[in-house]
Amino acid sequence: MDELMKPLLDVIQNNDRSYDYEKINKAFLYSAKMHEGQFRQSGEPYVSHPVAVATIVAELGLDTDSICAGLLHDTVEDCADKTNLSTIASMFGQEVAMLVDGLTKIIQVQVADKEEAHIENIRKMLLAMNRDIRVIFIKLCDRLHNMRTLSAKKEDRQRAIALETMYIYAPLAHRLGMQRIKQELENLSLFYLDHIGYAEVEESIKKKYGISRDFLKEAKRELSEKLHENNIHFELEGRIKSVYSLYRKMYTFNKAFDEIYDFYAVRVIVDNELECYTALGLVHEMFKSVPGRFKDYISTPKPNLYRSLHTTVIGNNGIPFEVQIRTRQMHEEAEYGLAAHWKYKSGAKAANDIDEKLRWIAQLLESDENTRDPDEFMRSFKTDIFHDETFVFTPKGDVISLPQGSTTIDFAYAIHSAVGNKMTGAKINGVIVPIDKVPKNGDIIEIITSQSSKGPSRDWLKIVKTGAARSKIRQWYKKEKRSENIVVGKAEVEKEIRKIGKGFTESEIEEVVRILAKRVGIQDCDDFYNTIGFGGLSLSRFLPKMREEFEKILASREPASKNTADEISQVKVVAKSNRLRTNGGIIIDGERGCQVKFAKCCNPLPGDRIVGFITRGFGVSVHKADCPNVTISRGNEENLSRWVKAEWDTPEETQNNETYQAMIQLIIEDGIGIIASISVALADMKVSISSINTQIQKNGNMLVNLSVGCKNTAHYESIVSKLRSLKSVVSVVRGFSN
Ligand code: MN
Repeated sequence: MDELMKPLLDVIQNNDRSYDYEKINKAFLYSAKMHEGQFRQSGEPYVSHPVAVATIVAELGLDTDSICAGLLHDTVEDCADKTNLSTIASMFGQEVAMLVDGLTKIIQVQVADKEEAHIENIRKMLLAMNRDIRVIFIKLCDRLHNMRTLSAKKEDRQRAIALETMYIYAPLAHRLGMQRIKQELENLSLFYLDHIGYAEVEESIKKKYGISRDFLKEAKRELSEKLHENNIHFELEGRIKSVYSLYRKMYTFNKAFDEIYDFYAVRVIVDNELECYTALGLVHEMFKSVPGRFKDYISTPKPNLYRSLHTTVIGNNGIPFEVQIRTRQMHEEAEYGLAAHWKYKSGAKAANDIDEKLRWIAQLLESDENTRDPDEFMRSFKTDIFHDETFVFTPKGDVISLPQGSTTIDFAYAIHSAVGNKMTGAKINGVIVPIDKVPKNGDIIEIITSQSSKGPSRDWLKIVKTGAARSKIRQWYKKEKRSENIVVGKAEVEKEIRKIGKGFTESEIEEVVRILAKRVGIQDCDDFYNTIGFGGLSLSRFLPKMREEFEKILASREPASKNTADEISQVKVVAKSNRLRTNGGIIIDGERGCQVKFAKCCNPLPGDRIVGFITRGFGVSVHKADCPNVTISRGNEENLSRWVKAEWDTPEETQNNETYQAMIQLIIEDGIGIIASISVALADMKVSISSINTQIQKNGNMLVNLSVGCKNTAHYESIVSKLRSLKSVVSVVRGFSN
């Protein structure tokens, strides 16, 4: 076998499961052949990547097919000589082919923009994962290896990939309980997202660890002596908190390095549960324990199924350290999460645990079936992976898990849509509560229903947290209120048409609506109005296309007819504003059509008072009138004559689709999850983020620089006030990039 395969074979040989070596070798040879002549950015032959991925897959303890899929995962997508899946199926079997397919990005699909392509790929990944959980395990291994070798990429790619890892893959690993992979992904992402912060924490660790390395060694020596004396078979591991989790504690909880109690931990891994408790007793005999720090996660596991005994004790030289005691299986489950459950998947219990943990994916996909709105899908996906769960009970004692922040309405729909649709009230622990009440872990919820209920209120759409509830409410409206929806949807469409022009005939409107509907696979115009009406699709994503189609109609009209005089001027206006838009819709000293650019220092928005500066060779640069650079430059007499009057030329109606870059600077006190809340809040407002930068200040606050697409100052104000309303946001100011 090839030298390259050695690390993989080493791992496999140490696993206690049997492998088909021949099949694995065949997959390697095939992958090497397919990737022949390809190199990674680091200069290594490409096949080193799939081998490394397969090695991580093997470290998770997964089976032969998973390892083969790891070796083959890039052969369909990346190879010049397109391997098709059927070749893989015939050589390695259906299962391997199915796994590889799940790992292959869709590239041929006709999708409008990059963002939608990205969402399509996430959707595809979740679908595959829902069919076979191994897909996501291998995908995470792939991402982990890409992160480990990220230094070979260009800086902007590094940032983009690290950001995606932080937002999507690390939370996904967390949801699957795969702590070890999650931690490494977070550490690596942090390294690329905040070099300075990372280096600072690392430096503190080095200092601290340098001083007290001996202390940990000594504590471990004492522990093993004692355990030996008592005939306990064990393994010991020392661990230091990860850079990322220290970073979070220090910068977002504002803790001093020395206040962190669980900086050091010793893990004791024993053979069975009983020995866990025996070992705990011995530890408490040897060291003084810190009150309030003992936790028994064996008798009450954490929501993500984590089991272990935790206690904090004071070492002989006064340094506190945590002791975690668990069995081998608990240990693997803690480190590898669902991957370990999958490995032990013989019992019905393990299979059940997996199904339970993955229910959110099935639900997400199911609710997506109903709407097919990519924005909504992404929002639900983010809510579902970012938020931890709350566990609540039905009066009968069944456990229901909901994303944190869910209301009793979400609970009702989680039980059954019939319960939600007939809901009139709710009781938590026997007490009547408002229906938008957010339950806590362990609450018992009873939903009060009534046969005479008229169905859910449209306002609930704004209250509920889960995509499943939102989609079920829309389903109800879709079914029960079709005629009402059509009227609502049609009115919405007509309002937009009026902004484009008057005098369109019914059949022209129908023709355009048909074109729009086709884009989302809807054949009938009423069905389209209905979908807009119940909120299954948001009209805003159709506006550019709609405008384009109506403008085509206007342009094709005969200019001779008297009746259409009105529309001709419309054509002109539209055409003119289109042209203006290419230069930003600015009038310079009374002149339209000047070449302008917006100053990066102040990013003016429609509604701001502005001035122009005649540059040498790049047209007119437009600043906010109160930009500090304007004041400074005006102080220089030479420049005075180059400042010119500037004003916006964007009538309210036509500027609707135009967005301008706006900078926002936020100061945040407690940064946990804040980036997620910011992006969810902005997605809610359909505001696009073009960049996001974070920086930690001396006092521990987090500085966030956002660059967003914004229509005008009023729009800007609404974005700012939304951001202000977020928890832990201290201040929001219109940012300058320097
Ligand atoms: Mn790959």
